[in-house]
Amino acid sequence: MIVQRVVLNSRPGKNGNPVAENFHMEEVKLPDPLTEGQVQVKTLYLSVDPYMRCRMNEDTGSEYLTPWQLSQVVDGGGIGIIEESKHTKLNKGDFVTSFYWPWQTKAILDGNLLEKVDPKLVDGHLSYFLGGIGMPGLTSLIGIQEKGHITAGSNQTMVVSGAAGACGSLAGQIGHLLGCSRVVGICGTPEKCLFLTSELGFDGAINYKKGNVAEKLRELCPAGVDVYFDNVGGDITETVIRQMNQNSHIILCGQISQYNKDVPYPPPLAPDVEAIRKENNITRERFMVLNYKDRFEPGILQLSQWFKEGKIKIKETVLHGLENMGAAFQALMTGGNTGKQIVCISEEFTL
Ligand code: NAP
Repeated sequence: MIVQRVVLNSRPGKNGNPVAENFHMEEVKLPDPLTEGQVQVKTLYLSVDPYMRCRMNEDTGSEYLTPWQLSQVVDGGGIGIIEESKHTKLNKGDFVTSFYWPWQTKAILDGNLLEKVDPKLVDGHLSYFLGGIGMPGLTSLIGIQEKGHITAGSNQTMVVSGAAGACGSLAGQIGHLLGCSRVVGICGTPEKCLFLTSELGFDGAINYKKGNVAEKLRELCPAGVDVYFDNVGGDITETVIRQMNQNSHIILCGQISQYNKDVPYPPPLAPDVEAIRKENNITRERFMVLNYKDRFEPGILQLSQWFKEGKIKIKETVLHGLENMGAAFQALMTGGNTGKQIVCISEEFTL
């Protein structure tokens, strides 16, 4: 059977901006027949995520991530349905997911590397397993639980950068649910700001591309900042840290403003900001969701419950077609998405 796949066509370079042309779509023949333990899957949804920028480099700079190879199929988070199975625990019609799903319309995969999912947990919105009720949602939930030190009833103010994205949009909502009295988001357009305040219940939002962020932050956080969920790093983060209270906490989720630069992770703060951080005893510990795999199952159940109870809203930006994987990644890295950036590969199970 001939199927389509996406391969890495070129690398942007450690200091370059990724573009859609770094990826290339081609046809390939699926091997047959299946051997013991294998399944044939049809891809339904694929995820593009900021960490993939590191996988575009020859050296990812991280022990957690392997580089994508030129002319080889690209992989990442994906979800699909089993069409044929030679695996004892997986059957035709099961929905399965993996962090290493090939960017391919159909594929033969090792069933042991797949995880079966229950569509009831997401009310049939299968793509949510790649977003709000998947890795990004878990990142927000576990990141806040582990590094946020939120105490309900103690009147804490939380600030979220990258607030309208997959992790950020969940982080602000979870901040409220766990007891922050005030949640303020920072993001890149007025439409995103409106989305945060009118749909997700944020108490305020700042467009970092317009006006004076420090001034707006002072207005919106009159009692200072107690918890900072940091998705972006750079100037925005340094501005927030200058307004953080004594003994406050940074959840070091990501530093997307630095991903197209050849800098170590996490990037060091400017010396004067690092001095302020130390003087005020502000924690800034590295957080990696993959270090908490034993928390994934209860975390998914918690997120699913909140979603079903209407306590969290999940937003997606969806492109269609495998040929748009590169465009989707480029859009994600330049703020084209609100909520989770998803690519729908087959509409067969779209609600
Ligand atoms: P996302 O926020 O949905 O998408 C990325 C967003 O980043 C864009 O929409 C854009 O929004 C913003 N952005 C891009 N360039 C920027 C810049 N120079 N300055 C400020 N904002 C910029 O992506 P996500 O999947 O939720 O990931 C968010 C962060 O979490 C990333 O840093 C990612 O690496 C990190 N992450 C960490 C873990 C972990 O285990 N620690 C797991 C998942 C994700 P605007 O329009 O607002 O600019």
